[in-house]
Amino acid sequence: MNILHPVSLEEALALKSQNPGSRYLGGGTAVLSLIGGLGEDAVLIDISKLLGKDIVKEGNGIRIGAGASLADIAASSAVPSYVSKSAGFQASLPLRLQSSLGGNVALSRFDSYMIPSLYAADARLSVLSPSGRKEMGIDEYVIAENRDGIIESILLCSLEEGQAVRYSRSSHAHAALTAACSAGRYAYGIGGSGFAFGGKDSYNAIECRDDLAGSGEYKRYLASVVFKEG
Ligand SMILES: Cc1cc2nc3c(=O)[nH]c(=O)nc-3n(C[C@H](O)[C@H](O)[C@H](O)COP(=O)(O)OP(=O)(O)OC[C@H]3O[C@@H](n4cnc5c(N)ncnc54)[C@H](O)[C@@H]3O)c2cc1C
Repeated sequence: MNILHPVSLEEALALKSQNPGSRYLGGGTAVLSLIGGLGEDAVLIDISKLLGKDIVKEGNGIRIGAGASLADIAASSAVPSYVSKSAGFQASLPLRLQSSLGGNVALSRFDSYMIPSLYAADARLSVLSPSGRKEMGIDEYVIAENRDGIIESILLCSLEEGQAVRYSRSSHAHAALTAACSAGRYAYGIGGSGFAFGGKDSYNAIECRDDLAGSGEYKRYLASVVFKEG
């Protein structure tokens, strides 16, 4: 395995296009756990030192550097409490300290800790790609086909309070459902199945599949009742 250490994000982008199949190295919790499967020729581009980690006020929102760890976000009183609660869904402290926000969003696992809460907080991503810097909604990013850009930072445009939940058999098991809502914005991540963004009933668009986290029927039931009171 080769780990490259660019000195700027622009150089990182250039290295990515020169090395097809390469991946960025953020916190490394996901890519380094693949070491056995990546192969000897795998190329990782280390961007961990090039990304901001600050969580700062910007206008009426809060901007979070993509290099901020889930532990930084879990401990932050600047972000809405349901957003910090979501970062705490990563139950292992060592992994929480190592995982970056950018890596978590880029991975876009259907059982993502952060994506539902970020949608509920009306998050806008700043993404640097070979064609320049773009702002996009988190839902746009998740469904985009070409995601070769680097997430630099994420702006939470809404700081209203809300709710975030994660249902799994244990804190370390894969989740059947992660979901969040705030100010009329709802997002669902259904394990092994998909994401839904929009209104309270948006989960109906997901074809819920059976897996170790639970049956499709169970996952759909959870999504249907989770925000009943709200
Ligand atoms: C045992 C275990 C269980 C886990 N369970 C869950 C879970 O239930 N839910 C969940 O959401 N996560 C889970 N994760 C993933 C993890 O904890 C992190 O939250 C995270 O998703 C990866 O962050 P990272 O910074 O370590 O990314 P890395 O491992 O460094 O990179 C992950 C991917 O993101 C890309 N990437 C990294 N940074 C950026 C960036 N700034 N811009 C663009 N692309 C980037 C890389 O190319 C790579 O493909 C689990 C990990 C482990 C080891």
